[in-house]
Amino acid sequence: MNLKRQLGLDILREEYAYSVDPVVGYTSSQKIPDRWVSTTCGYCSVGCGLFIGVKDQRAVSVRGNPSHPVNAGKLCPKGLSEHYTLQASNRARFPLLRKGRKLVRVDWSEALSTMVERFHAVQRRYGSDALGVISTGQLVTEEFYTLGKLVQLGLATKNYDGNTTLCMASAVSGYKRSFGSDGPPGAYEDLAKADVIFLLGANIADNHPILCQWLDANPARTLIVADPRVTKTAMMADLFLSLKPRSDIALLNAIIEVLIQRDLVDRAYIDAHTTGFAQLAESVHKYSPEFASGITGLSVSQIYRAALAYGHAQAPLIAWTMGINHSTKGAETVNAINNLALITGKVGKPGASPFSITGQCNAMGTREAGFTSSLPGYRKFESAADREELASLWGIKPQRIPESRGLAYPDIVEACIAKKIRALWVIATNPVVSFPNFAVLQQSLEGLDFFVVQDGFHPTPTSELADLVLPAAIWGEKEGTYTNSERRVSKVNAAIPPPGEARPDFDIFLELAKKLGCYGELFPGWTQPQDAFEEWKRVSAGRLCDYSGLDYQLLECHGGIQWPFPKDAFEVKTTRLYSDGKFQTDDGKGRLLPVEWEPFPEQPNTDFPFVLNTGRTVEHWHTRTKTEKVPILEHLSPNAWLEMNPRDALALKLKAHDRVDIISSRGRVSSVELRVTEIVAPGQVFIPFHYAEANANRVTQSAFDPISREPNYKQCAVRVEKSQPAPQFFGVRGSPKTFRRLSVNCKAKVHQENK
Ligand code: SF4
Repeated sequence: MNLKRQLGLDILREEYAYSVDPVVGYTSSQKIPDRWVSTTCGYCSVGCGLFIGVKDQRAVSVRGNPSHPVNAGKLCPKGLSEHYTLQASNRARFPLLRKGRKLVRVDWSEALSTMVERFHAVQRRYGSDALGVISTGQLVTEEFYTLGKLVQLGLATKNYDGNTTLCMASAVSGYKRSFGSDGPPGAYEDLAKADVIFLLGANIADNHPILCQWLDANPARTLIVADPRVTKTAMMADLFLSLKPRSDIALLNAIIEVLIQRDLVDRAYIDAHTTGFAQLAESVHKYSPEFASGITGLSVSQIYRAALAYGHAQAPLIAWTMGINHSTKGAETVNAINNLALITGKVGKPGASPFSITGQCNAMGTREAGFTSSLPGYRKFESAADREELASLWGIKPQRIPESRGLAYPDIVEACIAKKIRALWVIATNPVVSFPNFAVLQQSLEGLDFFVVQDGFHPTPTSELADLVLPAAIWGEKEGTYTNSERRVSKVNAAIPPPGEARPDFDIFLELAKKLGCYGELFPGWTQPQDAFEEWKRVSAGRLCDYSGLDYQLLECHGGIQWPFPKDAFEVKTTRLYSDGKFQTDDGKGRLLPVEWEPFPEQPNTDFPFVLNTGRTVEHWHTRTKTEKVPILEHLSPNAWLEMNPRDALALKLKAHDRVDIISSRGRVSSVELRVTEIVAPGQVFIPFHYAEANANRVTQSAFDPISREPNYKQCAVRVEKSQPAPQFFGVRGSPKTFRRLSVNCKAKVHQENK
């Protein structure tokens, strides 16, 4: 506290002054802007429309857009405080290049020239694919489209993936296997129109809060929630299925079996629009409710209640998120969900669909346009016709387009350890905190010849390890589009310029293309994101994700429009996929795929008797790079915690607020506050994954879905011990941040402050 304040002279008059704003009414004077800039929230995939209030070239406030079709003016705590991320003290401002042991400020020309030289040196010596690229779900679609071309054609490496593999790959693979293409069939409007809503592994109250508004608009619906933890969403349910971890396939198969036995399936739809029903019926026959009860821990009557509610519904919506995707069986669990929707003919109907709620604000954009797990426009690498079509649109030889996808994210990490990848470019993601099994990730980064991090924030636990840091503009500072979970494309606008010498990712990609000498061929005359958008419209024309009828003005005018929106579309309306029963498979039919339940890979044992579940809290976003610097969010949820059932706490002689360590065979998370609560069942514990200083991924395992390559974040075996007193450093108790710095600085590199 300063002296004036101590003497009572500084009463913070300006901070606490209030005035009347013509739009929002009586409010803090500091938050009254000169102008409002319309845009879309940059956190989660709900895709809320909002306005950024700008005063003197600073973002001073945010308010919801009352006419936006997604959120009708409402925002969650993250959206409401999003403008604080723009002025965070940890924003990256200047390019930094490691010289000796220090990161030192350089100009953009030196930064990008060095990047090109070092990448080319590695590729000359070890081959093109010795370069790996890991991007994100946070860029605008125009940037994903540009980056995909730049990496695959300009840098000529296949080994390109996004952090979306850590959250949505199972949904993507599941949709591709069942329906022949990625693309969620449903719409948010279905939440308001469904008579039964079945949420599986989806804690929307914490992770997608504004979707609860859609539930509230439908008070007559029956809400069924299946989750091992009594989440805030579970507390809203009419029927809560507290199933054992990773028993969802047994539950879904049992529901399918009941529906077949009770003839609650749509035989005409099955015959006309699906293949594989006989095999599916045979495979689920053993999953009687009694059999499934033994696996799931649910009662037989609970399973019947859920099955009959779904089976008798006119419009059942079945939605899921990370509780399903984060698993070695994630893609197959999505297939089981799709099976249920297909046998009842409930795909792409008002109120009824198998609906994956995605994660990041533009995870969908990279899935559509990104050139990672699919070619742009959901084209297939393995299809010669798709490659030829794309090559002709781009005016290049088809041979330049890879015939198979490159390594997925976890395999890029493994290839770094095996020295097959020697240089890595990480864009807008923080793998040191977000990748499972920290020790493996650490080993992969340590062995690199050259490591580039491009991010809006520095230092982060990942950027601290980089050889080159490229400062990027973030949400609020750049233009483009995001696609939300319901395929709604919304406009994103710049309200203020980026700090220091930071640049929009789009500009960085074009500048790099110039250094590589491929700008004229791949991006002729491009200067702004709209140039990429116009080409993307042509590339997506006629595809499932058809953007060809969209333009920026139309998006501004409607606050977002769902694809497909072809050139001849004459009406902006809710769209669903596969409403006509025609799918993107070779024969146009949906595939019913038998799926078997199996136990999750690392079962609890004598040394590690608990199943650890991980997840999120409403206040924070991913690895807290952004939200740690937002005062209200950080004050609401400043520290990690561990949830444990009272019965287990009693057995371990632990009590609420004790500090505990969580230990697996891979590592230890130290000194976390204990919450003793019935929210978790006996034998299970839960930790949020946002906190670098209590990094849950020090204990999670390297287990991945063999189909989607998504990590099995949700279950690993741990034990819990009361923490020993924290060590003293030079007589001063180490802060969480001190621990983080010491623990992640594995190369013992010293960074220079980015100022
Ligand atoms: S629900 Fe998601 S999109 Fe909406 S304001 Fe919150 S974080 Fe932003």
